[in-house]
Amino acid sequence: RPTIAGIDPARLEAFRAREEARFVTARPRSKAALEDGAAPWLNGVPMHWMRDWPSPFPLVVKKAEGARLTDVDGHRLDDFCLGDTGSMFGHSPEPVARAIRRQATRGLTYMLPSKAALRAGALLCDRFGPFLWQVTLSASDANRHALRVARAITGRRKVLVFNGCYHGTLQDTMVELRDGRTTARAGLVGQGFDLTEGAVCVEFNDLAGVEAALARGDVAAILTEPVMTNSCMVLPEPGFLDGLRRLADGHGALLIIDETHTQSSGAGGYTRVHGLKPDIFVIGKCVAGGMPTALWGMTEAVADRFRAHDAARDPGHSGMGTTLAGNPMQFACLEATLTKVATDKAFARMDKGAARLAKGLSKVIEAAGLPWHVVRVGARVEFICAPGPLRNGTEAAAAHQPPVEAAVHLGLLNRGCLIAPFHNMMLVSPITTRRQIDRLVGAFADVLAELKEPES
Ligand code: PMP
Repeated sequence: RPTIAGIDPARLEAFRAREEARFVTARPRSKAALEDGAAPWLNGVPMHWMRDWPSPFPLVVKKAEGARLTDVDGHRLDDFCLGDTGSMFGHSPEPVARAIRRQATRGLTYMLPSKAALRAGALLCDRFGPFLWQVTLSASDANRHALRVARAITGRRKVLVFNGCYHGTLQDTMVELRDGRTTARAGLVGQGFDLTEGAVCVEFNDLAGVEAALARGDVAAILTEPVMTNSCMVLPEPGFLDGLRRLADGHGALLIIDETHTQSSGAGGYTRVHGLKPDIFVIGKCVAGGMPTALWGMTEAVADRFRAHDAARDPGHSGMGTTLAGNPMQFACLEATLTKVATDKAFARMDKGAARLAKGLSKVIEAAGLPWHVVRVGARVEFICAPGPLRNGTEAAAAHQPPVEAAVHLGLLNRGCLIAPFHNMMLVSPITTRRQIDRLVGAFADVLAELKEPES
């Protein structure tokens, strides 16, 4: 009989219906709160992604503490989504909460540096490398500005991105490969100009493709994550990242490394753990413990070229920066996070916990006899409903099994475990306990046992 990723479709459908009913029955207050308060919001939610959770309606959250979240119906959930990395170090870490309380009496935004801002610069260099930094509110903006600088100093137009990538709302990167050609991504809203004029798309792990694209001489920068984390998780093959560095140098393009997700790798991100040499380094999400903050740092060589460009350009708006960026609350939280939260010890705990989780999930998959696999990048673990390893975005797109994934997510949620909605991603924070990890593995086993018919 045909299956979806090894699961019988009828069994899957019955499971989904059971789990949806169970979710709704258990959440009368969430449902009532949404019925009361959702109408003024477009499609009933303050940010449209909140509709994309696989539950019949979104959870309404009462509070989140540590690695746990409580909804208004009183369910306490082990949180492995952690705000899709925004809270990777746990919710409201105490040193960050303290910094917020202190700064709260000293002003929230004034478009001038604080002493904490000046101290944070040195902390950033110690942690991530000797870059010259700028701060923004989101990783989307950090990538946007990094690309502006790359275009400015190279005088070239295109960004090279990988098929299946995601770098935030930076429109320039919203391209994909179709029949081997760069095209605007399907589904973009309100796209008013031709994205292919500013971007070229290549498969991850395809150095020959990268070389061919760079050889045209119009690429300002390669923008990439060191591991593709938004298309399942696609690991770089040996030599791929070194190859990007070499090819960028050979063809006069910059290499921008986006560490927004891969900072799960360890202190200093994948870049420091694996000795990468980006021209511009980008980081966001949890870097300030959950306070909206992102940073982009350039090497001294890039800064020299940018200063020369800046001195020669016409006076007027640079087109970069936003009003609330660089506010003192960000730096209070950044300093607290770098010194007291995102420590080597914290990363060691995260790594150990995530290794336990990955091992546990792999064993469950093996015992169920499913053709699935598990990938881990430090604190970040993902199960993939297809055999691996995946080599690129095309393989990752084919590996996605939305109906199976949605059913597993909902099954886990009903068993007290929240995982990230857009992928099968689970994060282990420094305060996630072994019991929480084992509960998630147990819930996963329970869900797969219900989904998978015993071999006869
Ligand atoms: N870069 C990467 C690799 C991301 O995954 C994301 C968001 N998921 C971003 C940048 C953008 O982050 P934000 O939504 O906080 O702007």
